[in-house]
Amino acid sequence: MDSGKASDRIRWLQSELSRHARLYYEKDQPEIEDADYDALFRELQDLEARFPEFSTPDSPTRRVGSAPARQFAQVVHNVPMLSLQNAMDDSEFLAFDERVRKALGLQSVDYVVEPKIDGLSCEIVYRDGVLVQASTRGDGQVGEDITANVRTIKDVPQRLKALSFNAEPGLFDEVSPPLPELFEARGEIYMPTEPFRQMNQERLDAGMSAFANPRNAAAGSVRQLDPAVTASRPLRFFAYTVGRLDDREILSQRDLLRRLREHGFQVSSLIRPARGAAEVLDAFKRLGSERDSLPFEIDGAVVKVDSFELQRELGEISRSPRWAIALKFPPRREKTVVNRIVVQVGRTGVLTPVAELEPVKVGGVMVRRATLHNIQEIRRKDIRIGDVVEVQRAGDVIPEVVRPVISERDGNETIFNMPDRCPSCLEPVAGRQDEIAWRCTNISCPAQFREHVIHFASKRAMDIEGLGERMADLMIEAGLIHEISDIYALTVTQISALDRMGDKSAAKLVAAIEASKRRPLAALINALGISLVGETTARDLASNFGSLAALAAASTEDLRQVQDVGPIVATSIFDFFQSRRNLDLIERLRQAGLTMMNESAAGGGPFEGKSFVFTGSLQKMTRDKASDLVISLGGKVSGSVSRGTSFVVAGSDAGSKLAKARELGVAVISELDFLAMAGADA
Ligand SMILES: [Zn+2]
Repeated sequence: MDSGKASDRIRWLQSELSRHARLYYEKDQPEIEDADYDALFRELQDLEARFPEFSTPDSPTRRVGSAPARQFAQVVHNVPMLSLQNAMDDSEFLAFDERVRKALGLQSVDYVVEPKIDGLSCEIVYRDGVLVQASTRGDGQVGEDITANVRTIKDVPQRLKALSFNAEPGLFDEVSPPLPELFEARGEIYMPTEPFRQMNQERLDAGMSAFANPRNAAAGSVRQLDPAVTASRPLRFFAYTVGRLDDREILSQRDLLRRLREHGFQVSSLIRPARGAAEVLDAFKRLGSERDSLPFEIDGAVVKVDSFELQRELGEISRSPRWAIALKFPPRREKTVVNRIVVQVGRTGVLTPVAELEPVKVGGVMVRRATLHNIQEIRRKDIRIGDVVEVQRAGDVIPEVVRPVISERDGNETIFNMPDRCPSCLEPVAGRQDEIAWRCTNISCPAQFREHVIHFASKRAMDIEGLGERMADLMIEAGLIHEISDIYALTVTQISALDRMGDKSAAKLVAAIEASKRRPLAALINALGISLVGETTARDLASNFGSLAALAAASTEDLRQVQDVGPIVATSIFDFFQSRRNLDLIERLRQAGLTMMNESAAGGGPFEGKSFVFTGSLQKMTRDKASDLVISLGGKVSGSVSRGTSFVVAGSDAGSKLAKARELGVAVISELDFLAMAGADA
């Protein structure tokens, strides 16, 4: 492709991807499948890598993977981000309204009633329409710089939309309307309820702790040192105000909300104007009745005096505006009894204790079960079977046991201990009473088997195309597979007998299964689903040990020599290879003909004995691909620079690792040098 064509294509892809992101996130009306979106996205990434001169700072690809901040720099807010006074009930609001009317000498005041989203306040600064900085509220005066992370939130415009003129067609064709020199949008970063629930489940499955509520999840996701982590979290943004405002056309909160929308921000459709206190309380009541059907969590309403002139007249008091107040919903907390504590088995075998409660209505929703998260939480809160407990819908979403009511104990309550055996397969479980994550390590546990099959066949593991959730269910129902290794014994006849499977697609699936035998060692390690071992750790393990046999024989001390493998991960890997069943499975996979070592480990390679560290962004290939290349040539890839590092490959925007390499006198090479060494085409 020549550079003219590439430029056109890049520009087209950038605008198409932005449009699809808008359709998906703003309108909930996606036009294309996620997979097609991903394909366009990857095409853009590749083209921008080949023609970096056409990559722009606001490209959709820049929403992920910018250089991680080492820590959060401080940002001084131009205009302090004030906190609000609270009204806990109607009478406190009426008192507020009376103070406002008295101060202004008015009979009635026009307000705007906005839902109070349970998230994290944020300021996003645009210069000449381009996003340049984002920061947390902090203490109101000084916040934290979270620019790279906020860029990954698809609701947040990278560039403000220009305002459209209501002029005769043709008149302004050549002149695009000006964008404000400075625009400081403020609003709430939040995580919608359903993705929050899903994310928590995934975290529990991976043996990580769950977030208590969507607000914590949003805050935790935004304050990540690696923007790629933030990008992977389902965050959204609602704008509701600005910092400094230079536009004299904007005279009220309603004008301002309209302007925010015109600039491309999400503004809540639940916002309502209200003439006088009675209408405010009506609107508040309506919000309360809509609350449970909303896709995100709100904990009340924010009521603002609409007119900016009146706002100025009222002023502020001790960092709170006199013209606004937060009207809070009453807490949703009830008392009930813990009848039993049961244990659920998650995807990777994590055991989660769950309280079975005497059914109780909390905030209009019948609650029968509540997660107790883990044994440590149970101990910390001292929750016992038979206790009267307070239950709340945490972040008002997931029912949570807040605390036992000690005064109601009669001595018949019993202390809960984690079971010795998995409730699904009755195999012994791994865990100690003082540990957070308990798990069933039996790879053939029925509760985990289906999920194992799906994980094993997934793209980043064995990459068996055609073996997804539906096919896994069909195969398990038909009794074709009982163990992971059974996948390799499947025949075209068996598969084509399954529901609506033709010979042709059955043959395709068998071919995909056959091809998966040659997947690299790292993929196989990932596919085994060792708890706490994800794709990255699997790659590190593959490059360090070279074969599955060596990994299986490694002591926890050996394992801890691997970059980023701490004591907990090391123990998890070690335990995995102590299980007879797991070793049997591996043996069966070996007999099925799977590659169980790095190709280079078998015959040596040009990079044998050499270790590489990548820093900055590469232009010609992704870091993953570069890592695979090193490993395929017998070398090792490490995440940090040490005296033992052979080469640091510095891409653009290389940061601290480059400095460290210079300090230690480690050889620094460019991406092109690296490709030449690897004998790869530049
Ligand atoms: Zn089990």
